[in-house]
Amino acid sequence: MKYLTEFRDPALTKTLIQKIEKKAIQEVIIMEVCGTHTMSIFKSGLRGLLPPQVRLISGPGCPVCVTPQSYIDTAIQLTERQDVILTAFGDMLRVPGTEGSLMAQKSKGRDVRMVYSPMDAVQLALDNPHKEVVFLAVGFETTAPAIALSVDQAKKADIHNYSILQSIKTMPNTMEALVVEEDIQIHGFLCPGHVSAVIGVKPYRFLSEKYGLPAVIAGFESLDILMGIYHILDMMDKKDYKVVNEYTRLVSEEGNLKALEMITKIFEVTASVWRGLGSIEGTGLKLKQEYENYDTVKKLGIQMASEQPVKGCICGEILKGKACPLDCRLFSTACTPENPVGACMVSEEGTCAAYYKYGEFR
Ligand code: SF4
Repeated sequence: MKYLTEFRDPALTKTLIQKIEKKAIQEVIIMEVCGTHTMSIFKSGLRGLLPPQVRLISGPGCPVCVTPQSYIDTAIQLTERQDVILTAFGDMLRVPGTEGSLMAQKSKGRDVRMVYSPMDAVQLALDNPHKEVVFLAVGFETTAPAIALSVDQAKKADIHNYSILQSIKTMPNTMEALVVEEDIQIHGFLCPGHVSAVIGVKPYRFLSEKYGLPAVIAGFESLDILMGIYHILDMMDKKDYKVVNEYTRLVSEEGNLKALEMITKIFEVTASVWRGLGSIEGTGLKLKQEYENYDTVKKLGIQMASEQPVKGCICGEILKGKACPLDCRLFSTACTPENPVGACMVSEEGTCAAYYKYGEFR
């Protein structure tokens, strides 16, 4: 339990809360970008312990939530093909498309399979040479190395019936897009811990250098998060804005060089479509030309479905930190984890799911 209990110490928690109270002399809005942070904050009850001046808002850090509706619709269309085995991480199966979900397709007998790793999908391709095995490549810099590895391995092993439906996203430019959007107010960032373990500290430096914003890379235990909040308030108090790496037990300045090398071998940066945020330049990864044979869209000659708004769902506003789930009239009535209307209610890391699970009701 080392590295766990010491980051949940009640006495230290109390001391930190007191220090935060002293620093919180005005309203401060802090965005936690990562869905795991959102869940940790709710799970540990931190929101109720912080002074009211410190407002935590959730950002676009849940991979399932930011995947656009059109992507889900395209995946559902693919399941209608007899020559395709569609594979995905478990969360993706429950995300509602315009009509139904991948889980519903599976229950109708379509060949949809949950996998734990993209390499499982490569193995399936090897075992099913007469089928095209498509992997739903969603996620951030955290899942990108494993997806890149699967493509690399498939190419090396001469496997030609494996491809990925691309929707991999990257974080730093997305955070910049939120910073420059006029009607969003963010005073500081809790940077995503898992993504940072891969990309390191450097890619966030623009936040302080270009925009004068404090940012902290924090772990996921309650003391990690409180330390992050305290550092942000302290930097604001001293008007000394930096990017602080408080998660040094996992995050280094340069990041995970092997993982980054694998990403840059297979992918290049591109624009990406985010649910609710639209297309943002430089926030996605696409296969390099020499790996295009592993791109499902090109290989199967399909068109991506068009984007359809989900009636009544305000996931997009929530992902930008402009609204909270309680502002959605469908929350906990028409939309629940058992019957989700929007993606933010599906994932373990979704903001709506966090509000629901931990009982934040008006
Ligand atoms: Fe969308 Fe449901 Fe969240 Fe409302 S409660 S924003 S419908 S996911």
